Amino acid sequence: MSTGLLWHELYMWHDTGTSAWVMPAGLSVQPFAHIESAEGKRRIKNLVEVSGLLDHLVLLKPRSATEEEILRLHTPEYVARIKRESDALGGDAGDLTPFGHGSYEIALLSAGGCITAVDAVLDGRVDNAYALVRPPGHHAERDAGKGFCIFANVAIAVQHARVARGLSRVAVVDWDVHHGNGTQHMFEEDDSIFYFSTHQYPFYPGTGSARESGTGRGAGHTLNYPMLAGSGDGEYIQVFREVLGPEIDRVQPEAILISAGFDAHRDDPLAGMAVTEKGYAAMTTILKEAADRHCGGRIVSLLEGGYNLEALGASVEAHLRALGAFNGPARREPVS
Ligand SMILES: [Zn+2]
Repeated sequence: MSTGLLWHELYMWHDTGTSAWVMPAGLSVQPFAHIESAEGKRRIKNLVEVSGLLDHLVLLKPRSATEEEILRLHTPEYVARIKRESDALGGDAGDLTPFGHGSYEIALLSAGGCITAVDAVLDGRVDNAYALVRPPGHHAERDAGKGFCIFANVAIAVQHARVARGLSRVAVVDWDVHHGNGTQHMFEEDDSIFYFSTHQYPFYPGTGSARESGTGRGAGHTLNYPMLAGSGDGEYIQVFREVLGPEIDRVQPEAILISAGFDAHRDDPLAGMAVTEKGYAAMTTILKEAADRHCGGRIVSLLEGGYNLEALGASVEAHLRALGAFNGPARREPVS
């Protein structure tokens, strides 16, 4: 049993800029870091190292996505605009998605990292993989960035699995607390992709009602499971066991990709859910068992949101331990 960890320091160099509180007259304007910052993600990597977990993982080195791979899902005008603005001082990819100089190349490396993780699993170099990528991707639309996402990482990885690797049935499970509007829109007419999302509802970005279930040929291949604020481990585990598990048995995917945001954690500042690390571990195990039944355990998980630094690190560690079935105690002392 081997689990891959994909990471690159450049992911931490994606600059989401600073925002500023507009203070009452007479007080100074205080800039503060954008909530989607490198700090939380770098701490995940540090925690994986210090806990000793890294010793059990296979490090994967990302490649950049090619323009052709990005253009499978994004419009040429959008891609050209991001490149142009990134070559200059940066800009905003659309809605709430500021980026700095050089973020185009980092976004290509983020999408390409997800492709690398898919290849590592399909080639059997690892049994499953976790891609600690940044910027995230599930809100990005074909022609616009959204919700901190520039390119549609998970959708680009799915298209690679289909077009370049010949898979005909892929399941995407999106447990980020926000609905993955971009992923849904890109695949809602497609009967070869099963998209499942649990998310706080109503909430940003406003999509993801249970009525949105796919269109045309894709009717019935999108399953949204909106949940009320306050839902925790019990509710999520029940939905995964009783709704998602049987759906995966029906779809029989050849690989499962997880849009693994950890912002449904009870300590997350952006949302109002109550999931704990134990809940994420249990959800991972349910998906792992489903992947074992249908596709030789092939899971590729990739990071979306997560904004409480401690909760994010602990959740990813629990997710990785469940993915790799590592049950040993975490070491907290430095590793020699
Ligand atoms: Zn999110």
